[in-house]
Amino acid sequence: MQQSNIKQGILLPDISLRVQVLVPYPVARAYDYSVSEGMTLSIGDYVRVSLGKKDTIGVVWSLAGDKKFDPARLKSVQQKYVCPSMPKVQRRFIEWVAKYTMADIGSVLKMSISVPDAFQPPKTAKAYTLTDNIPDKVSSNRKKVLDLLSDAVPRRAADIVREVGCSSAIIRAMASSEQLKSVPLSTPAPCLIDEVPANTLVFSESQKQAAESLTQLVAAKEYSTALLDGVTGAGKTEVYFEAIAETLRQGRQVLILLPEISLSSQFLDRFKRRFGIDPAIWHSEVSPAKRRMAWTGIAEGKTKVVVGARSALFLPYADLGLVIVDEEHDSSYKQEEGVLYHARDMAIVRAKLGNIPVVLVSATPALETMHNIKHGKYRYLHLPSRYAGAAMPEMRIIDLKSASPGRGQFLSPVLQQALMETLAVGEQSLLFLNRRGYAPLTLCRACGYRFQCPSCAAWLVEHRYHTRMQCHHCGYSRKIPKCCPECAVEDSLTACGPGVERIQEEVQAFLPEARTLILASDIVTSTKMINDAVHQIEDHKVDIIIGTQIVAKGHHFPSLTCVGVVDADLGLSGGDLRAGERTFQLLHQVSGRAGRGEKPGRVYIQTYMPTLPVICALAANDRDKFLEAEAEEREKAGLPPYGRLAALIVSGTDEGKLDLFCRTLAQKAPRFDDIRILGPVPAPMAFLRGKHRRRLLVKTEKSVALQKFLDVWLSSIKVPSTLQLKIDIDPQNFY
Ligand code: ADP
Ligand code: ZN
Repeated sequence: MQQSNIKQGILLPDISLRVQVLVPYPVARAYDYSVSEGMTLSIGDYVRVSLGKKDTIGVVWSLAGDKKFDPARLKSVQQKYVCPSMPKVQRRFIEWVAKYTMADIGSVLKMSISVPDAFQPPKTAKAYTLTDNIPDKVSSNRKKVLDLLSDAVPRRAADIVREVGCSSAIIRAMASSEQLKSVPLSTPAPCLIDEVPANTLVFSESQKQAAESLTQLVAAKEYSTALLDGVTGAGKTEVYFEAIAETLRQGRQVLILLPEISLSSQFLDRFKRRFGIDPAIWHSEVSPAKRRMAWTGIAEGKTKVVVGARSALFLPYADLGLVIVDEEHDSSYKQEEGVLYHARDMAIVRAKLGNIPVVLVSATPALETMHNIKHGKYRYLHLPSRYAGAAMPEMRIIDLKSASPGRGQFLSPVLQQALMETLAVGEQSLLFLNRRGYAPLTLCRACGYRFQCPSCAAWLVEHRYHTRMQCHHCGYSRKIPKCCPECAVEDSLTACGPGVERIQEEVQAFLPEARTLILASDIVTSTKMINDAVHQIEDHKVDIIIGTQIVAKGHHFPSLTCVGVVDADLGLSGGDLRAGERTFQLLHQVSGRAGRGEKPGRVYIQTYMPTLPVICALAANDRDKFLEAEAEEREKAGLPPYGRLAALIVSGTDEGKLDLFCRTLAQKAPRFDDIRILGPVPAPMAFLRGKHRRRLLVKTEKSVALQKFLDVWLSSIKVPSTLQLKIDIDPQNFY
């Protein structure tokens, strides 16, 4: 029942007995709930409330309810969960991200409440220990159990069975005759660190300086952004470990963000070597039980280090003291579904709100990041050369116009020769092609029919390994038919262009003795499989690795000395404003896999456009000059970081309705001198997952309050329920 207050003789509903609760659903604001007598709530408390017909977890967002709602008609908060409440900085972060990305705040909250299990009382495993009831005469098996447990360490039934070799029925029988009793066995939070081991490496002069600067930034306990810039193999990881050590000495928590696919055992092994303990891991493959333990440990402040993919940014850290964003330029930091946010940018926001340092790490920093360095917004720390003087690999450009591969082949004679020589001296090679499968297009020689996805404007990619044809956009797949579906001619189908599987076939044909391995996300599908593959390469059970971009990241293979880039031009077509920059980053990363041990490395880059600035920059290893030229172009065009962009993507099944709406949308845009609206135009992927797509691009001067403008514009328009409108602030992809 609601209470009422009598103040100055007037009967007032007691507004203190209502709260606003934010729920993890696509809602734009917190809703009012009443609080029953006896329940005390504070802002940030996790509570259970009903929403429509279901119950949900929510967070108390404010204590002042909206007076216009009749308290008697409000639903009441059902339960307050016993766990640390959501810290203020976390709530402000959620609000900030929602406002910036223009996403519903409830959807942002959802990313923070990703482990609903964490709110249930922990399901402790049962363990057994001795009672006072020690029988005189027992069977030999029972005696063994009693002896085992005499050390007073409780054990799970399965462990007793294993250690004693008895059956589990015996344990149950002993429990029911009260010779054993069960006690809860709780699992401790991951990554508890009391003592921080000292660094045992001898740092180079530049490592020493960088480590000292980072340690000082951590010691200052205030917001700062630093970039740790250094070629692949410069020893950046070892340097930022020192910043982590300093944060741990303060007793605070650390978040290390990595692109998901870099979360391999190699990084974790190094972490363990340095700190003597495993960090908590956070990414899509972590089991629910582990997530729950990590979530709780993080909320309680016990778990000290989290290594995670971008979603780890939304965990409820009790006392976060440092964020590291490794491979800060990586495009996978942009989430392209649900809430469209850039984890690197939001990490900086999180650091500002928490008044803590953030360290960006890269061998090929993003143009935006270098721009901020130039304007004095970030600290700059530089490791100019590889650790222990290891040389950078020698770069050779192969002009495919003159050194063309044989008929039906994709590796030029120069590259084939290099692979043979590398194999002959017992070293490893890597062939890089950022395309999964066997061939990107299959056509019928008889009638010209091309296999296309029924739901997307895309060719089907042949995967011989899976014996299927697949759409890489929606996941549609079909069997590879024997004859053409159009003209029914048998054996008329022919593959056009290469994927990694076709490159493997080519290598096997001219180097049958070489042991090859494909590293592509459809073949090594789990972290465990990636780890196994990495071990095979480390143990030199593989001679030639053929891989997509998952090989580009972080790995350190000392015997790998030869890298071949099969098609450097692949990412350069299309109108993406970052195409050149991304190609440079990716190919530089790939090249960095060569010669990381004592032996020098060689890199061969196959291209039809050897005079393109990005290819020349790669050959000359001149990143800064390339970035300067790119920056100049962008400044001239008023593109980021010199201007701002937002994309509107509208999609729907009815093309006529879609076009009509998009025209109205564009017409209704308020006009300003410093804001340009481009489009609507059909998106490069004009048909995706059965929906037609149109894009509009909003381009503004840097100083324009872009979100505010969009708010005013879009609030004047109702999107028909059959169409979807997505807003992408700072778009990274333009498909
Ligand atoms: P980056 O992160 O810049 O690519 P890493 O930190 O991975 O470079 O270092 C490359 C290799 O050199 C690693 O195997 C690392 O353990 C080793 N290394 C780096 N610095 C030192 C050092 N001061 N002493 C010994 N080994 C080092
Ligand atoms: Zn498709």
